[in-house]
Amino acid sequence: MQNSTLGAFCSSRCIEMKFKNKLYPVILAPAFIPEMNIICQKNDGISLGAACTLTRSTTVIQQVVAELQDYQTEVLKAILEQLQWFAGQQIRNVATLGGNIMTASPISDLNPVYMAAGCKLHVASKDGTRLLKMDENFFRGYRKTALEPHEILLSIEIPYTRKGEYVAAYKQATRRDDDIAIVNCGMKVYFKDGTNVVDELKLSYGGMAAITVMPKKTCQRLIGREWNENLLLEACMQLAEEMTLSSSTPGGKVEFRRTLAVSFFFKFYLAVLKKLSQNINNHNNVHEVISTRYTSATEPFCKDPSSGVQFFQAVPPGQYHEDLVGRPIMHLSAERHTTGEAIYCDDIPHFENELYLAVVTSTKAHAKIIAIDAEEALKMPGVICFISAKDVPGSNATGHTVYDETVFAEDLVTCVGHIIGAIVADTQPHAQQAAKSVKITYEELKPIITIQDAIENQSFYQPIYKLEDGDVQRGFEEADEIIEGEIYIGGQEHFYLETQCTIAVPREDGEMELFVSTQDAAGTQTLVAKALGVPANRIICRVKRIGGGFGGKESRSTLLSTVVAVAAHKTHCPIRCMLDRDEDMLITGGRHPCLGHYKVGFLMNGKVVSVDVTYYSNAGNSKDFSMSVMQRMLFHMDGTYKIANIRGTGYACKTNLPSNTAFRGFGVPQGMMLAECWINDVSLKCGLLAEAVRRMNLYSEGDLTPFGMKQENITLQRCWEECVIKSNYHDRRKQIEEFNRQHRWKKRGMAIIPTQYGIGFTVSFMNQAGALVHIYKDGSVLLTHGGTEMGQGLHTKMVQVASRVLQIPTEKIFVSETSTTTVPNASPTAASSGSDLNGMAVYNACQILSQRLEPFKQVNPKGTWEDWIAAAYFERVSLSATGFYKIPDIGYNFEKKEGQPYSYFTYGVACSEVEIDCLTGDHKNLRTDIVMDLGNSLNPAIDIGQIEGAFVQGLGLFTLEELQYSPHGSLYTRGPGMYKIPAAGDIPTEFNVYLLRDSPNNKAIYSSKAVGEPPLFLSASVFFAIKDAITFARAESGIKGSFRLDSPATPERIRLACADEFTTLVCI
Ligand SMILES: Cc1cc2nc3c(=O)[nH]c(=O)nc-3n(C[C@H](O)[C@H](O)[C@H](O)COP(=O)(O)OP(=O)(O)OC[C@H]3O[C@@H](n4cnc5c(N)ncnc54)[C@H](O)[C@@H]3O)c2cc1C
Repeated sequence: MQNSTLGAFCSSRCIEMKFKNKLYPVILAPAFIPEMNIICQKNDGISLGAACTLTRSTTVIQQVVAELQDYQTEVLKAILEQLQWFAGQQIRNVATLGGNIMTASPISDLNPVYMAAGCKLHVASKDGTRLLKMDENFFRGYRKTALEPHEILLSIEIPYTRKGEYVAAYKQATRRDDDIAIVNCGMKVYFKDGTNVVDELKLSYGGMAAITVMPKKTCQRLIGREWNENLLLEACMQLAEEMTLSSSTPGGKVEFRRTLAVSFFFKFYLAVLKKLSQNINNHNNVHEVISTRYTSATEPFCKDPSSGVQFFQAVPPGQYHEDLVGRPIMHLSAERHTTGEAIYCDDIPHFENELYLAVVTSTKAHAKIIAIDAEEALKMPGVICFISAKDVPGSNATGHTVYDETVFAEDLVTCVGHIIGAIVADTQPHAQQAAKSVKITYEELKPIITIQDAIENQSFYQPIYKLEDGDVQRGFEEADEIIEGEIYIGGQEHFYLETQCTIAVPREDGEMELFVSTQDAAGTQTLVAKALGVPANRIICRVKRIGGGFGGKESRSTLLSTVVAVAAHKTHCPIRCMLDRDEDMLITGGRHPCLGHYKVGFLMNGKVVSVDVTYYSNAGNSKDFSMSVMQRMLFHMDGTYKIANIRGTGYACKTNLPSNTAFRGFGVPQGMMLAECWINDVSLKCGLLAEAVRRMNLYSEGDLTPFGMKQENITLQRCWEECVIKSNYHDRRKQIEEFNRQHRWKKRGMAIIPTQYGIGFTVSFMNQAGALVHIYKDGSVLLTHGGTEMGQGLHTKMVQVASRVLQIPTEKIFVSETSTTTVPNASPTAASSGSDLNGMAVYNACQILSQRLEPFKQVNPKGTWEDWIAAAYFERVSLSATGFYKIPDIGYNFEKKEGQPYSYFTYGVACSEVEIDCLTGDHKNLRTDIVMDLGNSLNPAIDIGQIEGAFVQGLGLFTLEELQYSPHGSLYTRGPGMYKIPAAGDIPTEFNVYLLRDSPNNKAIYSSKAVGEPPLFLSASVFFAIKDAITFARAESGIKGSFRLDSPATPERIRLACADEFTTLVCI
């Protein structure tokens, strides 16, 4: 049937339909064809219907493995090993064996095993059936098989193994859970009866070519050879020669992939050797026995589920039971979050005559727009209009710190993803299909993409910042040693669950009501008013809650809101747009990638005396917050260390990438990462424990930072000592050393890393907040403040604060939403200061109301809250109050080096232990202990959640998440398939969090401390634990001293840093 496709689950077809505009009007579902679901066990193997799902196949194979003799099940066990790491459970429940084979993906996890095992396929057509062997001739080209177009796959025959036959399968991906392979393989060897002489060898690799390939030459050369070190050597050399990849191979990672091909064989070699030594008489031809140090290489990856403890201080014994401040109460929306009942922006019911908008974005990084042709698009079904810069009634210039951006690009595009126009249509599919048909003609200009490009072209935003303390030159002269180094820290995508979303509803007289997923309702109001050319009082911006922001909805949300508002203005209809994940990732920018250079002078006892650092951040095509991010990077260039002489220089590179922006940590993670690099190098050079060097250089009470802020009530040392004790650091360090002595190919590492995070906006005016509290006649309280609820529990904490001041149960208090109509000119919910700022504003408003109610309480001391409210109402006392707060004495002038950028620091220390597989670059997070000072926590349950969440997000930053761009500035990694955030399996197996006791903070509401961003950097403990483990691995190859490890520490970087004989073989 023309234009039909066979698909059980249609994973690949769905992707083609969604992203490649392919249409399959008819889809045949083999799941419902009985002949394709038959499972049949025979004497020499098992036949599985092509429509069997992977989950069903797993169950069946497990049963068969349990029934058969062990030696017969080698292929089946290899298939089970691959299925364990194949996609996620949801995919395995619906994807079929046949679909996986027929997709003919070069990285299919199962095809290499089938090929190595010599599986056979039953295929059928109207002409009859035939049997096809899955050998080196089966795959004919990229996604092409030996099946004719009119044939379908009926079933697959998987053979049982004979005595003397051994099979294994391996897979290496970026992330263990639910990720496609970088390289995978299936390997089979059959020995001559009772010997270690190879009779048959089949190796099959995925990820090494456009099809699953078998290195035939290598296999043939090893036939007749004994399974010993000579064979190993020859196999590795032969594989290195045969499994080549050109430097332009799609997917890159060429050296890593080639190393994996050889390393996998080494694992197979050892695994087979181990079995041989068990199965055949050692005196009879088998000369080699695997050394116990090497057996670790043969153990498959496995990780226990996570567990952990959370410690916090209980409220004082006398605290009134209805006073919930300091108690671990649940997030007020937690149940709605987990049941799916919580209303997010796109859940708002559709308005009558509502239309949908889809954006048209640039496919070029830097180009002049020659022509925009929307003619074809306008003829498409449901399309209402095309809008562009010409339709902006107010100003097309926009931006958050300076107006250096456009609502719609006019003559010039400066990044791929730059919004040029938008299609408005009756439905989302119509709008999106039409948007793809808008033709843009460009005249390309030379783009600047990377930091390196920017340095070569001196493309920097001004000013270039410098921060200096002491005399750096003199410090270097006094030092015993000086080291220089470099690290590249990759960027990060916010990956909030709810992508950017706006609904704009035009009202009368220039009014517009906006429902927006934003951290900055007031900023949205300002920029929409500017774009529409109306005063701000005509624009209402409302936010119920947002599904994560992490900084990505502080400024970048207005990219969409302004466009949607212009469309609503033009059409006079409500307009909705929620970006698809790929659009969101393409358009909105993320954390700044950063290149850092360092020069550090130190004494051989580990004391650091002088540091000179330079940061280059990739800011992208507009300034956005990049200058403030760079300032923070510099404010934290010292890490947590008192360095007498220190200098930092910061360049924000102007490039043709989508503008990078605020992201949890706001430059601090990059700033501190460099500090941890140099201090790590110092410990290696001095031959001292990194823990000792870090401890020795920590800040103490009264020390001044390079920007002149005095360390007051510093609890860094307390956190440090407690973390050392809780983690049992010194004993475990010895155990790690012992483990590493006993294991050649698995290494463990541990690191203890401190953090200090400056709290407050570094510019003075933003450190203000407002609240509006209404008490209604029935005694219920409507609480509003300027902060946005984004899952962090801000509203819950604000209710706790109001409840204490008003002395009423939290059930009487309700927060409905954040709106520009209730609290004007609110600062964005950012800089970790939401609770500090809004908490004090709420406190202020509630105090005012309490004072107004006091006379009524005194008149009727035994009365209820409702009595007092009624009495006050009848006495015509206002039951509504605004509250306001500004942090005193805050704000730093970078040019004059005056003022204080922070109100105080939040401190914490984490100790992490990891295990790496030196042959594949895999790593396991074994244990993390965190001690944090959060003052008197307002809500320990929420605060510990913030610590755990920030830590895991940091894990993504430092070990997993990698944004990849084409040389022309087009983002490749536009979704969860390519871009891997941490999964459940990445959480440390043991994960303990301790809140420091008895450490009230006199600078914030009820002696609490800010928590949102500070814990993120603690995940660097995992990065440095990995680096520690690599150091042990390198020592096995006789390599000592410091080495460069860029972030994230991906399997590729870990494997290649563990330099050994295999890397030498393939890396030229
Ligand atoms: C989120 C996600 C994660 C994934 N992770 C992995 C992974 O870890 N490892 C891995 O190897 N793959 C992975 N994949 C790929 C996926 O496994 C395959 O796409 C899937 O197995 C295909 O099975 P299906 O039944 O959905 O096939 P469909 O998508 O329905 O079909 C795929 C193709 O095969 C054809 N076809 C299907 N059945 C037959 C038949 N019986 N005879 C002839 N042609 C047929 C269809 O016409 C179509 O061309 C992943 C996919 C997704 C979406």
